[in-house]
Amino acid sequence: MSIQVRVPVQELSETSLAPSFKVYTARHLEQIPQVQRLPSQIRQEMKVVASVLPFRVNQYVIDDLIDWRDPIADPIFQLTFPQKGMLKPAHYQAVEAALATEDAAHIKATIAEVRAQLNPHPAGQLEQNIPKVNGEPVLGLQHKYRETVLFFPSSGQVCHSYCTFCFRWAQFVGDPSLKIAAKESSQLCDYLREHPEVTDVLITGGDPLVMKTKNLRAYLEPLLAPEFDHIRSIRLGSKALTFWPYRFVTDADAQDLLALLREIVAAGKHLAFMAHYNHWRELETPIARQAVANVRATGAQIRSQGPLLRHINDHPADWARLWQTQVELGIQPYYMFVERDTGAQHYFEVPLAQAWQIYRQAMQQVSGIARTARGPSMSATPGKVEIQGVTEIHGEKVFVLRFIQGRNPDWVQRPFFARYDEQATWLHHLKPAFGESKFFFED
Ligand SMILES: *Cc1c(COP(=O)(O)O)cnc(C)c1O
Ligand code: SF4
Repeated sequence: MSIQVRVPVQELSETSLAPSFKVYTARHLEQIPQVQRLPSQIRQEMKVVASVLPFRVNQYVIDDLIDWRDPIADPIFQLTFPQKGMLKPAHYQAVEAALATEDAAHIKATIAEVRAQLNPHPAGQLEQNIPKVNGEPVLGLQHKYRETVLFFPSSGQVCHSYCTFCFRWAQFVGDPSLKIAAKESSQLCDYLREHPEVTDVLITGGDPLVMKTKNLRAYLEPLLAPEFDHIRSIRLGSKALTFWPYRFVTDADAQDLLALLREIVAAGKHLAFMAHYNHWRELETPIARQAVANVRATGAQIRSQGPLLRHINDHPADWARLWQTQVELGIQPYYMFVERDTGAQHYFEVPLAQAWQIYRQAMQQVSGIARTARGPSMSATPGKVEIQGVTEIHGEKVFVLRFIQGRNPDWVQRPFFARYDEQATWLHHLKPAFGESKFFFED
């Protein structure tokens, strides 16, 4: 079966659509007109879950991306609105009971206890990858793979909406000790000066595109100086092309933003927009397409990545259409991730064996041009591990795996084997194949 997607060139007059950004959080859930029309049981469930997991959604997502005729079946509704199943039954009941007491201290303690049990920092994010300058930890940086430093600017630690499955959810629920954020770009520069092996800087968050252009410029412009010639690629990790495409078209500083992107390209850097996409529906609105066209016109590349999620995109046809649409819009599919072991993972997880089948069947529906997404890939403690397939070796059914990225560069592209396990959803569920006692990277 092959898929057909027509991507017409969209014209959008500057004056026809220029809404201002309007956002709703947990406190405003009941003010959303579309939510007011939902049954009271569902509204109650949403309130309970939104008291634990972050909730933030804006008018564009509500009005233009969600089909409210059947919201529970709608992938963008599942992507942004809390659902009862996102908390395990015991957690749900505990929080619902606590809320009913209206005892603020008890509610707070219950919520904190539940959050602590949701593995708020998967893959050793807080302890293991924080680099040091002059012996002092630099809190807004993460350096796990030799070539690439991640930078979390302090003013980019929110998003235009929140994804219900986000592995960074702990940063959004208001505990400042959980925030990985930098105050200054000077620390970034100090670190990069000492690390000529670093070629890529990835500005991430939250979403760095929530920042005003002038703030973003303060972080990015210093990297264009000759002393940072070793920085060859600048990446921006963002979901703004989905959640607030007006950022690149009609926002007051949209033109200044596009000018900044052009300056980075003119300085000879590779500028890569690492766009987070989960569903082809995110690419259907005229404004989303205009935003993609505007970013591409600056000379920036757009690459796409996103996790495979039950309730949102666990059908091969959805991935095939996502990749095909992206290719037609000039976006390169880059990674398909496995949902991380944190937050509402039990709600979204897809067993590794099934994830591989979905990936494979989606690949089979598109031409080679759209087959550039690697995956399904787990961002685990030792590195990014890709499920290459399932096969049988000497009568033993095994997963064939490889490192796409490794904490140790020598691990990269090494195939290895794990005992087949139909239920496994993460690397730590897997056992070495052939009766071996550990994986090679565990030495
Ligand atoms: C994925 C990732 C990167 C970037 O890896 P690439 O394979 O170069 O895209 C960098 N740092 C961390 C911590 C990552 O998870
Ligand atoms: S856009 Fe990215 S960082 Fe923001 S909530 Fe979604 S997954 Fe998390």
